Amino acid sequence: MANVTLACQFCGKLNRIDVRKASLRPKCAECAKPFLLDRPVKVAEEQFDTSILKAEVPVLVDFYADWCAPCRAMAPILDEIAERNVGRMLVAKVDTDRSPAISQRYGIRSIPFFGRFEKGQLVKTAVGAVGREGLQALVD
Ligand SMILES: [Zn+2]
Repeated sequence: MANVTLACQFCGKLNRIDVRKASLRPKCAECAKPFLLDRPVKVAEEQFDTSILKAEVPVLVDFYADWCAPCRAMAPILDEIAERNVGRMLVAKVDTDRSPAISQRYGIRSIPFFGRFEKGQLVKTAVGAVGREGLQALVD
């Protein structure tokens, strides 16, 4: 099984999606707009547990903020990883300014903070501008 539950970026409706079929451009059941899984998916604080902890595939999460320069520097590398691993894992972005409870739960004091989640557990982390190799270590 490789299902994830994601909120539609357009209408907010929660959809259950098989990431193995991501290349078929799954559509929202409510508004029929596509889910683009070949790029990082923004996950809001309210959906964190549903989308990330309950995902049936590993999830690489970028905890970031818009004002953080090292976060912006890492963004293109994250985009690349999302594209290269589509169908195998989910790559997500969590805005720490809008997710204070999540930041507190994982003790995130410095960003960018990258975490690999498996079956609801945070299993690997990397903090800072860790470069391509640093992020790749969370994929393998
Ligand atoms: Zn929708």
